[in-house]
Amino acid sequence: MTEFSRRDFLKGTTVAGLGFLGPRGKPSKQDSSPVKKGKGPIIISTWNHGLAANEEAAKVLKTTGNPIEAAKRGVMVSEADPNVTSVGYGGWPNRDGIVQLDAAIMRGEDLEAGAVAGIEGIKHPVAVASLVLSETPHVLLVGQGAQDFAIEYGFKKENLLTPQAKEAWKKQAPLREDHDTIGMVLMGEDGKMAASCTTSGLAWKIPGRVGDSPLIAHGLYCDDEAGGAAATGVGEEVIKVAGSYQVVEFMRQGMDPNDAIKRVCQRIIRRDTSRPDRMVGFVAMRRDGKTGYGSTTGNFEAAVWKEGKNTLVK
Ligand code: ASP
Repeated sequence: MTEFSRRDFLKGTTVAGLGFLGPRGKPSKQDSSPVKKGKGPIIISTWNHGLAANEEAAKVLKTTGNPIEAAKRGVMVSEADPNVTSVGYGGWPNRDGIVQLDAAIMRGEDLEAGAVAGIEGIKHPVAVASLVLSETPHVLLVGQGAQDFAIEYGFKKENLLTPQAKEAWKKQAPLREDHDTIGMVLMGEDGKMAASCTTSGLAWKIPGRVGDSPLIAHGLYCDDEAGGAAATGVGEEVIKVAGSYQVVEFMRQGMDPNDAIKRVCQRIIRRDTSRPDRMVGFVAMRRDGKTGYGSTTGNFEAAVWKEGKNTLVK
């Protein structure tokens, strides 16, 4: 479109015609469903290791009331656990036997976000992502730059390859599409939301491969005006449909979180018929506190913290 016709187009498009802004650019009715308040934190995470992460996040929300701090410290529990082989320390390495980690965090109040991708030797990439959010004008740092940044901020370089992961890697299985990324979406008592996501990615991936998890709109998305979502599974499939963003946008239109997830999963299945076995799962929370989860294969579980109870739902 030329500049002239673009201008014409914009002139000719009334605000009402765009269908999402009310008078003076205020959010339309679609965006003003009541925000959940006063019933304690609500937290949803992927997989069963989400239970321990939820516990920690709930504790942090209670003591600090800070959703970003809670979303960070919650998933750090999975990062530190050597038995969670798809996140942080103990995560399966890449094809060359090197653990490369991806993580991201996003604040729903102002859409501020931070992320790192392909970072090596740093046990808590989500904590680095959080510093990218708070201390830099950037959103995403990768590889060596991300590691240098972490070290500048006092992180120690560590060996993240556990003997168990090394053993598995030595057997040199083909690229493994099993995955257990932790993605978390939460809301404090005041209705403020955050989302986080951290992973070692697909086992035996090509060095430098980056999945959905550190990519805002793909591995996670969070907007207090609509809700939040986070993804797990084959990142390539999530990226192709901007998965988490799309779940949030469906919720913005008023859709139930479970239906929003279903719609995105159906799109993935319908558009890539070559690989029906490729698992993708989402957890989501709408701005009124309603939660949902679902996957392309049905093989998925989520940990939900609500009204003081932490439950695994399948
Ligand atoms: N989504 C992650 C990725 O593709 C994998 C996972 O869920 O563990 O990197």
